[in-house]
Amino acid sequence: MGEAKRKQSATAALIEKFPNCYFCGGKRLATTREHMPPKSLFDNSYRPDKLVMPACSECNRGTSTADLAASIISRWDYLSNHQQDADHRKLIEQARRQAPDLLKEWTELGDPDEREQARRHLRNHGVSVPRDASVVTIGPRTICQLNLFAHKAVLALHFEHYRQILPVTGRVSANWKTKEDFAKGGVPAPLLKLLPKYGTLVQGRWNEPCLSG
Ligand SMILES: [Zn+2]
Repeated sequence: MGEAKRKQSATAALIEKFPNCYFCGGKRLATTREHMPPKSLFDNSYRPDKLVMPACSECNRGTSTADLAASIISRWDYLSNHQQDADHRKLIEQARRQAPDLLKEWTELGDPDEREQARRHLRNHGVSVPRDASVVTIGPRTICQLNLFAHKAVLALHFEHYRQILPVTGRVSANWKTKEDFAKGGVPAPLLKLLPKYGTLVQGRWNEPCLSG
């Protein structure tokens, strides 16, 4: 079976089992398979075909900028490797077309003095920042996309665990932390306690069992 056919049949099988979109609470019928976390978050888009949710095209398309922002930001690593750099360049090109307002926000800090001030601020808050590290700004537009991404991730985990649409009376809450927050205390222990058997999607392995148990 060709790749396109295989995808089509996987989508049909998922929708037959779960006909409603998982992200808008089943308001619309699902027409696509949504990967969460998205393929673009993985090096060279090499991702196991797990954690896949039924989604309507509006939810799928409507969250693509959130996926893009998270995929780019996850590659802002001082010690990034060749593949991460290549993926980053490709994703930035996509952002140039799809979300120029985000690019503008990230590159707002043009003045070298302001950059140095930002580095100092991070160092004073326990984040180790190499002298020649680049600086980007994360403002309200980016935070809005990251919040959307976080809520989508929670809904995806809810689907993976319960295989039921979150009822309209249900609530999802996601809160994201900055590097300063992590430098202070890492991932909060109460949060890890909520996830006693969390699984992982392992980079570069297609059939890694995930969220089993
Ligand atoms: Zn939807």
